[in-house]
Parts: sequence; structure tokens; C-alpha cells
Amino acid sequence: MSKKKDYTAMWKDLGIDLAAHDGLLEVLSSAYGEVFLSQSDRPKGLGYFDLLVSEIHGRRIEELLEAKKRGGKVFGVFCLYVPEEIILAADSVCVGLCAGADVGTQHAEQVLPRNTCALIKSFVGFKLARVCPYFETCDLLIGETTCDGKKKAYEIFGDFQETFVMEVPHTKSAQAQVLWRSEIQRLTNKIEEISGKEITAGNLSESVKTVNAKRRALQRLSALRRARPSPISGRDALLINQVQFYDDPVRFTEKLNALCAELTERVAEGTGVAPAAAPRIVVSGCPMAAPNWKVPFLVEKNGATIVAEESCVGERGTRNLVAEDGETRDDLLDRIADRYLQVDCACFTPNTERLDHVVEMARDYEADGVVHYALQFCAPYTIEAYKVQKALERENVPLLKLETDYSMEDAAQLDTRVQAFLEMLE
Ligand code: SF4
Ligand code: SF4
Repeated sequence: MSKKKDYTAMWKDLGIDLAAHDGLLEVLSSAYGEVFLSQSDRPKGLGYFDLLVSEIHGRRIEELLEAKKRGGKVFGVFCLYVPEEIILAADSVCVGLCAGADVGTQHAEQVLPRNTCALIKSFVGFKLARVCPYFETCDLLIGETTCDGKKKAYEIFGDFQETFVMEVPHTKSAQAQVLWRSEIQRLTNKIEEISGKEITAGNLSESVKTVNAKRRALQRLSALRRARPSPISGRDALLINQVQFYDDPVRFTEKLNALCAELTERVAEGTGVAPAAAPRIVVSGCPMAAPNWKVPFLVEKNGATIVAEESCVGERGTRNLVAEDGETRDDLLDRIADRYLQVDCACFTPNTERLDHVVEMARDYEADGVVHYALQFCAPYTIEAYKVQKALERENVPLLKLETDYSMEDAAQLDTRVQAFLEMLE
């Protein structure tokens, strides 16, 4: 992540701690070079995504500020359950707030217990350390009652920035569906209030198509990774899944479809990122928000290829589309509510759909093994790992369970465990 144009004045206006922010950009730039740019024979279409990342705190923030000058608002979200479609329909911008680095941990631990998952500490730390221009650009943050850690953290977070919290039910019963539909309505009302724009059947229908097109492009990318050898590394595919939460959705879709056309040619030629016989791995578990690249880097540097992610930054977030057949605003909000309640987060009980999806993905991507990735202190995913293990054992798919955080302290130990797992697969 390099600084080309000087954005110092913009960051200063936003109240960013410039010294801490410079330190963050330096660390990210060096990690990006090691994890991504060091790979050989990357598809040319990745150039756009490299540029996007290099300007993620620069040009993209300028674009958000320009959208605000034109009368739009910026909404920051932390979770897949917040429908982007409703935000776009209000002529506003939706950004996924990055929670994948531990730069603000010391600040976060002043208000949160140490044994809180790294993702929660990260978003609280980014705000308190004033190193994220996205937080400072947002007109409203939208949280959700998914896991206990998040919902309690939002109570504290609300002291620092206005935060609206949606109630996400924890079952998918008929009563839960009614509750969830009413929360979709409450969110719609709030977005109309903040944006000053009316959400109509017309603009909602357009935004549903926009987001569906983005998810279709991501599905296309996933399908191409079924090829043997895969035409793109797991790291690069993860990066694309990560930056979809920041980029303009129409431009992102266009660039991703262009990359997919190139990958289609690579598949036809048999060009891959690793030998066809390299172990194929599905990663399953907690979301990997940018710039959390530790485990994928370790898996691929040891010679395997990650062919899919059963994760919120992966197929859990892209598998389902919103039905486009609604005619009224209420019809469309019904379709949106139905689609979002299909997401199989470990916060739900029971969550058998996720187990089915892990097994299906291991089969469809011809995976040699699954790496279950969970953040320390994440009860939903660390506990559900037992059920995932049992489901995969029934299908004779080997599993490696990893629990980690965002620090590099355990990198050597993880490396040894990954190497042993891959040797066992061979
Ligand atoms: S894991 Fe669950 S709570 Fe976390 S982002 Fe995904 S859906 Fe939301
Ligand atoms: S990783 Fe687990 S504990 Fe952390 S926010 Fe997500 S569901 Fe909650």
C-alpha cells in the first residue's frame, strides 16, 4: 500500500492521527509486497485490485467525500446481515469497516476485556486510535446483535460514534422471520431519515440488480477456481472478496468480470498458480477481513492452493441472491429479508446449513482437506468447529483446526502445523 498523491490534508481534516496512520500504511505496504506482489505469473486483471488497495485510504476516501458533497451519505457496516441494497437505494454508499489488523489493540483493551476476539478489538481499536479514514467519513454505523461480543461492544462504541443496531434473531423459526422482517423495515426507516431520500420500489429494484450483479461476478470467480490447476491463488481471490466491501459496486463488478474473462482463458490453456497436483484446500470459519492474510499466506507458501472460502468473506456472503421479481417496495423488502436470513452464521442455532455447505464445498472443489480457521475467544465458531469436524469425518475429508488472532507471534507454530497437515495429505 503506497502513498502516491499526498492525502495528508484530507486525513488531517478527518481527525486522523497522522503518525499512527503513517505507521499503519508502512506495515500494510510491506505485508502486501510479501503476501501478494511476490507471487509470480499473477493474472494481469489483478492490476486494478492492486491499485485499489494502494489507494484504499486515498482516492477511495476522496470518492466517498465527493459522494457526500453531492448529497449522499456513507453508512459503515460490520456484518453480512446488513443489506447493502437498502443503503444503495438511498443514493448512499455502504462500506464494510475493516477489522483485520491489530494496530489499535492497546486502545481497544482500555475499554474491552483482553479475551475479546481480535475482530472486535480491531474495529474498536481503529476508532479509538483514529487510524481509519472510513470510520471518520461515515454518517452512521450499523451494527447487529449477532454474537455477544459484538452486541456488547456496540454499546461501548455508541459512546464514540452514532451506531444503529439491528436485532438479528438467532434461530430461523417463523417468529424469527417476522422479527427479522420488522428489523429490515426499521433499518429502511433509519436510512431514509439519515439520507433524506425516499426508498421506493424503483430505486430498490435497481439496487437489488446492482448487488446481485456483484454477487454473480463473485460466484463466477468461485466457479473458475474449481479448475485443476486453479487459475488464481487463494490469496488473490480472498483479496478480491475483501475489497468488494470498499469499492464502488458497479466498477468492481466490471473489473471482476474482466478478470474472470482472463481467468477463463487461463483455464482453457491449463495455466495455474501451482502444479495441478498441489493439495487443494477449502478454508472454513470466521471472516478474514482485510488485511488479515496470515493463514492463507502460510497455507500457500507451503505449496497448497486455497480453492474456496466457506466464510463471510467468501461464499457465505455471495452464495445467495435476492429474488428480483418484487413489484412493490414491500415485496422487495420481503425478498431482501428472505435472502439475508439464509446466511449461515455460527450465531444461529441450529446451524446445520453451514455443515452441509462445508461438506458440499469440499466435494465440489475437489478439496484434499479443510482448514478450519477460528479467532481466539470466538465462541460461535470455535464451538461449532466440533460439528464441522464430525460432518467432514463422515465424508473422510481431513480437517486442520486453527485458532489464532491478528498478531504474528504464533506464525512459526502455525507454519509447523500447516506443513504437517499438508505432508499428511500428500
Ligand atoms: S461471522 Fe456472523 S457475525 Fe461475523 S460477519 Fe459473518 S455473519 Fe456477521
Ligand atoms: S469472530 Fe466470532 S466473536 Fe468475533 S465478531 Fe465474529 S462471531 Fe463474534
